[in-house]
Amino acid sequence: MPIYDFICTDCQHQFSVRISYAEKKNLVCPECKSTNLKEDYSGYGTSLSFKSTKTSNVHRPFT
Ligand SMILES: [Zn+2]
Repeated sequence: MPIYDFICTDCQHQFSVRISYAEKKNLVCPECKSTNLKEDYSGYGTSLSFKSTKTSNVHRPFT
């Protein structure tokens, strides 16, 4: 199963869950039980790749 990153729009809690696509509909925030969740595409892999590609310039979209 894929791992999805979510941000709760109510309490800003960030978490990752390993669920099926269908289960995304039933997902709630583990902190406040809110269903107002936003999928965090930007965080996926970027925090890790930032460290390992810090000195290389593979692609720099904002420069
Ligand atoms: Zn929450």
